[in-house]
Amino acid sequence: MPDILKEVLKFIPDNTVISDSVFEGANIVLYTKSKEFFLNNNGLIKSIVDSIKKRVELRPDPSITMDREKAEELIRKLIPKDAGLDQVLFDVQRSIVVIEADKPGVAIGKNGELLRQIKEKTLWVPEVRRTPSIKSKLIENIRAVLYENNDYRKKFLHKIGKRIYDGWTKERRSEWIRVTFLGAARHVGRSCILLQTPESKVLLDCGVDIAANDEDQFPILDVPEFNLSQLDAVVLSHAHLDHSGLLSYLFKMGYRGPVYCTLPTRDITALLALDFISIAQKDARDTIFSSTDVKEMVKHTVVLEYEEVTDITPDIRITLYNAGHVLGSAMVHIHIGNGLHNLLYSGDVNYENSNLLHKAVTKFPRLETVIMEATYGGKDDNPATRQECEDELIRIFKETYEKRGKVLIPVLGVGRAQEIMLIVEKAFRNKLLPEIPVYVQGMVWDVTAIHTAYPDFFNINVRRAIFHKDQNPFLSKIFKHIASQKEMQEVIEGGPCIILATSGMMTGGASVEYFKALADSDRNAVVLVSYQGPTSLGRRLENGDKEIRMSENEIIKVKLNVYTLKGFSGHSSRDQLMDFVNMLDPKPKKIILVHGESSKCLDLASSIHKQFRIETIAPRTLDTVRIR
Ligand code: ZN
Repeated sequence: MPDILKEVLKFIPDNTVISDSVFEGANIVLYTKSKEFFLNNNGLIKSIVDSIKKRVELRPDPSITMDREKAEELIRKLIPKDAGLDQVLFDVQRSIVVIEADKPGVAIGKNGELLRQIKEKTLWVPEVRRTPSIKSKLIENIRAVLYENNDYRKKFLHKIGKRIYDGWTKERRSEWIRVTFLGAARHVGRSCILLQTPESKVLLDCGVDIAANDEDQFPILDVPEFNLSQLDAVVLSHAHLDHSGLLSYLFKMGYRGPVYCTLPTRDITALLALDFISIAQKDARDTIFSSTDVKEMVKHTVVLEYEEVTDITPDIRITLYNAGHVLGSAMVHIHIGNGLHNLLYSGDVNYENSNLLHKAVTKFPRLETVIMEATYGGKDDNPATRQECEDELIRIFKETYEKRGKVLIPVLGVGRAQEIMLIVEKAFRNKLLPEIPVYVQGMVWDVTAIHTAYPDFFNINVRRAIFHKDQNPFLSKIFKHIASQKEMQEVIEGGPCIILATSGMMTGGASVEYFKALADSDRNAVVLVSYQGPTSLGRRLENGDKEIRMSENEIIKVKLNVYTLKGFSGHSSRDQLMDFVNMLDPKPKKIILVHGESSKCLDLASSIHKQFRIETIAPRTLDTVRIR
């Protein structure tokens, strides 16, 4: 038995009441066969937590829980009708019952009274979850994968704990810390950073660059310092493919360690990976991973809430903070050694409140080094403000509508799409726009459904609206889900409308198909709202190309109006990046700039150094930086 578990048991006077003690990642779970001890342990568990400073939970042994059928019947009787009780699911190995309801607050009861009763009467540990307001097959599938693998998960989480607490009592002296940039250094796309200490090897993100040529598409993993079998953990900042796209491939290659991220990031990452496979199949291209690998990834994901502190290896402790970029996006705060060093990896960061999200956090317990994105780090990267862009977007919608045209907005599917949906819904609700149908193509709709499942990650206004079904902006009647090729054809042949379709850079997917159909008329418009990679179709349109060669014998003449609106970006503008650095508390000693074209990383590095007197570096891909 690992040392820390032995030590925990010493706290319990008669520890024969404990039938099992296991890890769930960094948490410790004790099981008891004594009903008495489970319901009334006089604060003993709390005193253990206070003493060892680790999370400890007490659960009933599976053998004493109430028969499932009876328990469900009782739960359904106890919870009032207006809670909108949906599914009741049992995680048998962990003695947990998951209760899905439209109104979790009602199901929990005043001061948790109903939960207390359920616990007492059934000897199951109740957890309440919100039913998503838009049904999502994907969320159901993900939950099913986890549910079917409960037994495996229990063992897997115990194994992680054993690694974290390996030699717990041993004095640790981490002498050095190195980070190697396997991608996305002086480059946007394929984010992947290897963090190494004498004890640990952790990967921060593992993305692809879908717009790049073959050799620059993937992070460079065939380097001596990267060895998949020695990797302790992967931490995922957010779900965009340039940060998550190669993760499933790691599982194909045999990785079976944990992936840490937020709940929305887990779901959206799985969705984007599956979409990536289906697009490749449509183009009759081979994919480097299959849906089985995506399933493995889901099985090995450990979700964290914002600001929840967790050990992930013997000398690394992480905390995720809101990054303001897309739903569930996180900055990763990494505490290394016992107070040796504090590193922040920003992932993609937005230091501005959007319609959807609150801006990024800037206050941390401690901070010495920051690895920060520089997508819009150039001196001139201060696009029009969000408000100006919103006004301009509404103007384009109106003008195109009056010409009986269609507006295509290529979106990344995650983030920008939902931001635009909120803007259109607001304009429609405030009668600034007529009732123009907004067609939400395929996957974008699924991502929107995931958004409605996790309202806690939105800013306060959207969160409140979602709690009231009749005010939920995503359920507005103007939104229509386009799922089939036939429906898509009807949109193309139909009247004026707004179309939201992937991919955001028009490197494939429905946005390209719509573009081909709409390009020929100046009544139509395309509005580019995302970053456009240097070789992408979107960038060529931005540059004003009037003839686009799609393939050997397909040339498209561009007659439709092309607009670029950068103010909706999920990324900070140059000024906002500088503001972000200015507001960082405490002030870091070193900032490493990544995730930007070369000139932008260098420009931002030099400005930060001049203005804040902070040491800056703009490494190239494959550079290793020793940060301690
Ligand atoms: Zn991103």
